[in-house]
Amino acid sequence: MRRFTTFLVGLLTLLGLGSSALAAEAADIQKIKDRGVLKVGVKVDVPKFGYKDPKTGVTEGLDIDIAKAIAKKILGDENKLETQAVTAKTRGPLLDNGEVDLVIATFTITEDRKKSYNFSDAYYADGIGLLVKKASGIKAFKDLNGKKVGVAQSATTKKVIQEKAAAEGIKVTTFEFGSYPEIKTALDSKRIDVFSVDASILRGYLDDTTVILDDRLSAEEYGVASKLSNTALAQLVNGVIGELKASGELDKIAVKWGLK
Ligand code: GLU
Repeated sequence: MRRFTTFLVGLLTLLGLGSSALAAEAADIQKIKDRGVLKVGVKVDVPKFGYKDPKTGVTEGLDIDIAKAIAKKILGDENKLETQAVTAKTRGPLLDNGEVDLVIATFTITEDRKKSYNFSDAYYADGIGLLVKKASGIKAFKDLNGKKVGVAQSATTKKVIQEKAAAEGIKVTTFEFGSYPEIKTALDSKRIDVFSVDASILRGYLDDTTVILDDRLSAEEYGVASKLSNTALAQLVNGVIGELKASGELDKIAVKWGLK
């Protein structure tokens, strides 16, 4: 009998601990419900992913559609969504200081970043591309020996370019810039020969004088990121990504934006 009582107390303690742990975990979702709006950091200069139409002022794309699906799941209404413009440099700090609940902004999942943020399973993969002046005569990565390549700070690009150059046995110098418009300006003024980042991002900077080469240097897998401590939110988000994939909805969204 005594043994049984001890067992019972142990079991109840376990259950008690379990439920309080669960309640603590759900606090991150409750906070969003109490606020009544989901705050998401998105790109505003990446056509088809997160792009603010200068005419309508509306930000739209695949990343925004995913944000809407998550808002619907948590708040029952896809319009209970507040987007905030982020860049490669600002998106991490905005998650850290709680200004946004999620970042859905062409954010590549890497082992290193997983130490700082939760990432959902990948919802899209794109490759790093090369934007050059048509007049430069550069046709492929192998033509970059001795050339200068502009990349963004806090982007995956620099490492990939350097590894690829080493593999090809050519010498490429990378220069880091704080934003994509600055890289484009440097390309136009010939301070650099190449603007490199994910092809999807380059598309936003393509004009009559430039071309995106066929080379794709990596597979950048995009995930939805949340603050590392927000584990219940991360689990919910991954559930939404899973549902969007299983129902075929993610494919439909990609087709809608010309990404499939
Ligand atoms: N997707 C790449 C990264 O996460 C490029 C940077 C960007 O998304 O702006 O590093």
